[in-house]
Amino acid sequence: MKILVINCGSSSLKYQVIDMATKNAIGKGLVERIGLPGSVLTHRNGFGDKEVITAEITNHTVAIKLVLEALVSPIYGVLKDLKEICGIGHRVVHGGEKFSKSVVIDEGVMKALKECVELAPLHNPPNIAGIMACQKMMPGVPQVAVFDTAFHQTMRPNSYIYGLPYDYYKKYGIRKYGFHGTSHKYVSQRAAVLLQKPLSDLKLISCHLGNGASICAIRGGKSIETSMGFTPLDGLMMGTRSGALDPAIVTYIMCRENFTVDQMNDFLNTKCGALGVSGVSSDFRDIEVAAEQGHERARLALDIFEHDVRQFIGAYAAVLGGVDAIIFTAGVGENSGPMREAICKNLDYIGVDLDAEKNKVRSEEVDVSKPNARCRTLVIPTNEELMIALETHELIQ
Ligand code: ADP
Repeated sequence: MKILVINCGSSSLKYQVIDMATKNAIGKGLVERIGLPGSVLTHRNGFGDKEVITAEITNHTVAIKLVLEALVSPIYGVLKDLKEICGIGHRVVHGGEKFSKSVVIDEGVMKALKECVELAPLHNPPNIAGIMACQKMMPGVPQVAVFDTAFHQTMRPNSYIYGLPYDYYKKYGIRKYGFHGTSHKYVSQRAAVLLQKPLSDLKLISCHLGNGASICAIRGGKSIETSMGFTPLDGLMMGTRSGALDPAIVTYIMCRENFTVDQMNDFLNTKCGALGVSGVSSDFRDIEVAAEQGHERARLALDIFEHDVRQFIGAYAAVLGGVDAIIFTAGVGENSGPMREAICKNLDYIGVDLDAEKNKVRSEEVDVSKPNARCRTLVIPTNEELMIALETHELIQ
């Protein structure tokens, strides 16, 4: 059985075809610049061979049509016939409070997804466009929505209600939702396998450290606290996002810089974080190189990030009442041994004890702790596409 996984952004579309027998991607690719000049589809087969297809890709329906053509191309395709696709799994950023798990998409779900648009005006519209395009191009193939927010619906009100008038929660839906749920769920399940213990017995802290970054406290496989909030801007300082701030700073900057609401929103999401502090780049590899060459603000950006992550780990250890394992995942978490080592400094009080040699690992599932460490430190590459395929497979069977 093969599942097509679709992840639509406003001007991009990522896809993978996953063979559920082997759990491997047999084809994948990326459409960029949808609706813009210079649109392009880059398609790879299971061996990594690349095909670049340039075409006028005016909208998501055209993008899906091109992807489907690429998948069955006699030259670089990965399927003989589109009928081999048994289901389509869509990443949907925001499911609000309506969705606490993945769902098969029907008319009622589409209506509810549209109602969630005001909570994620940048993300949900392209997700919906991708679903509608697939419905048009692949009628009759079951489609499933997998939400970034769903995993965190197990948080309790004392985690998700802000110190605002309670009416605002009821009227506007203002509460903590949390994001990266598919990734936190996937790595927590893999952690149980790696530790050879039932997930129901484990207290885990999952650190998804990529361009966007969030931390999640997971007890018995359930999210009980997470660092992103009403939007993915909250929590850790990230590549270009500020992370948590004194809320008074927002209005102060708006006044000083004469920013409109949209300008302020754009500023906090794209000009802040490690980019804003370092002035070098939003890419942690560039920042690490600059810091090694003595760039002080690059060093400061890394120090802030490391300090932020450690603070959350400490807080979540308190929330969980102990920690069995800390998981590092996503670009920085999976690849940067120095960042993992810096974060784990001073965490010996919760039982963390890194093995410097093992910690050199990149993008592999490895327990990088010393044999007797009370709290294990795990590197687990995330695989949100596989998680979406697994949930789709389960629901359509
Ligand atoms: P996203 O999916 O949020 O765009 P990723 O999970 O791909 O992000 O992570 C991207 C980040 O990971 C970038 O900042 C990149 O520099 C960082 N990264 C990747 N490899 C390394 C590495 N070897 N050392 C440090 N940072 C790395």
